[in-house]
Amino acid sequence: MKDLRKLCIHTITTKPWSIEEAAEHYATMGVGGITVWRDALEGRKISQVGDMLRKHQLDIVSLCRGGFFPAVSAQKRQAAIEDNKKAIEEAAALGAPLIVLVCGAEPAQSLATSRKQIREGIEALIPYAESHQVKLAIEPLHPMYAGDRSAVNSLSQANDMAEMIDSPWVGIAVDVYHLWWDDTLHSEIMRCGRNNHLFAFHICDWKVPTEDMLLDRGLMGEGCINIPEIRGWVEEAGFEGYHEVEIFSKRYWQMDQQVFLTKIKEAYIQYS
Ligand code: ZN
Repeated sequence: MKDLRKLCIHTITTKPWSIEEAAEHYATMGVGGITVWRDALEGRKISQVGDMLRKHQLDIVSLCRGGFFPAVSAQKRQAAIEDNKKAIEEAAALGAPLIVLVCGAEPAQSLATSRKQIREGIEALIPYAESHQVKLAIEPLHPMYAGDRSAVNSLSQANDMAEMIDSPWVGIAVDVYHLWWDDTLHSEIMRCGRNNHLFAFHICDWKVPTEDMLLDRGLMGEGCINIPEIRGWVEEAGFEGYHEVEIFSKRYWQMDQQVFLTKIKEAYIQYS
């Protein structure tokens, strides 16, 4: 039977829990890793949260999230870079080796212009990322978010960008929810692995029908994504890291979170 050592859960998945509650329950269930969303750190001393997570034997996989680089005004783009520097400081204080980037998109300009600004924003951060020993992962988002959340909408675009940036500090987060539909996914995952750019792997499922563009993600096995097939591809590409369960769901947030956590464990074992 599949063990839970490679299972990581994003704190946003069990959003009703504080990070202290999440850590205790994840650890009790034998979950190996945790990805921390920045909102979970509010009002806390970040280095102490890191100590608390390590005390629970949880591997801190990444911090979510940085990004949102594009803007029409240069001043706003600079403000985004400053916020990303703050995220890098938070990741370093927490002991997280990686920040996931939701890159952003500005509806008042072309996607190509937004992509150029994303690349420039990431490049501006590299010295800061390196001095704090924190890597950055570009997460391509499903094209339904191209209007305002990300101008990077396929693994091919993310690969192009990471290759252009060409830094050991910048790679890619592959999320099945955003990329499952792509008929070039297998070859692009191989390309990502060949370049040592495959930094993270996120899982959940695409429900049919999806009732909310943002907050109706499904539990593994509940939708139409062939997760074991894609997991096989990332492993074929040399990825040995965590399988990160990232589910935003109004429906699941209303459920008793302990019951939900048990469902996550069962779905992970059976459908991923
Ligand atoms: Zn993701």
